[in-house]
Amino acid sequence: MSLLSKPTELREQVLAKKEGNKRGDELVQAFHNHIEAVNSKDYFDIVEVEELLLKEQAHAIEVMKTPKTYPKELARFSPSSSDKCERELFFKANKAEKDEDTGHPFQRRWTRNSTAVHGAIQRQLLEAEIVVENPDFVVLRLENGLPAWEKNIEDWKVIEHNGVTFVLFGMCDGILQYKDGTKVGFEYKTKSNSVAQIKQLKEPSPSHRLQCVAYSILFGVDEWLITYESVAKDKWTTNENARPDFKIFYTRITEQDRTILLNKWARVAEKVDTGYVPAPNPSKCMFCPYKKVCGEVNE
Ligand code: SF4
Repeated sequence: MSLLSKPTELREQVLAKKEGNKRGDELVQAFHNHIEAVNSKDYFDIVEVEELLLKEQAHAIEVMKTPKTYPKELARFSPSSSDKCERELFFKANKAEKDEDTGHPFQRRWTRNSTAVHGAIQRQLLEAEIVVENPDFVVLRLENGLPAWEKNIEDWKVIEHNGVTFVLFGMCDGILQYKDGTKVGFEYKTKSNSVAQIKQLKEPSPSHRLQCVAYSILFGVDEWLITYESVAKDKWTTNENARPDFKIFYTRITEQDRTILLNKWARVAEKVDTGYVPAPNPSKCMFCPYKKVCGEVNE
């Protein structure tokens, strides 16, 4: 029985992979065309979009002023920290003392610029709904009419996994609706060094994919388009020969992906309960704000 079922299973896996590739190629191409289409036009600010953004801003201020309602006594994780060292997640959940901030002003300008470009592409996704003829994508709207992204979609979930309870809390760059009615996640990343970085990208970074795994747990969307855009562009005069300044990758999140991430959070949450410090992962130290307290742990 097992001997007979193996080739069938393998064939099914190969077919599923082919189907997935076809779907991924279609979505990547469609989204690429969508971004190119809206950027191929000159247009003025659109009143409906500006009004919607104003409502969104008012809502964001309300969210900022409102205390969070998730259970504070549970270990809490966020999608953007999914790929972090388990020890760092442990320190964060335990509110350990952070290192003295050593950020340089140019690094803050770097972050500021990337955040501004995020806002610009989101605005453009709303404008594309009006400016592009028969757009393949629209931004999903929530019940209150606001776009499904950022603080509008901020949410939390209590999760029980492997006998441990913890909280997942976060928001995402956006959820789009494709022309066939399906929901597709929009994850947007910027590159700031040079436009050449885009051509060099062969696949999404594992940490960015893992972030989408967390989103799939929080928002129930399995298909994600991870878009990388270089803030730096090719020379103005390169015109139609300019090097590509953005690239899109498709990823479909599986049950297995979710289980692996949930296992990791459960391991950390269990250690938060027991006080047993997780092992270090020196490959992830660069952006960790707990280097001092980590160095004080008796191994
Ligand atoms: S310093 Fe490195 S090993 Fe220690 S908690 Fe941070 S990321 Fe983990």
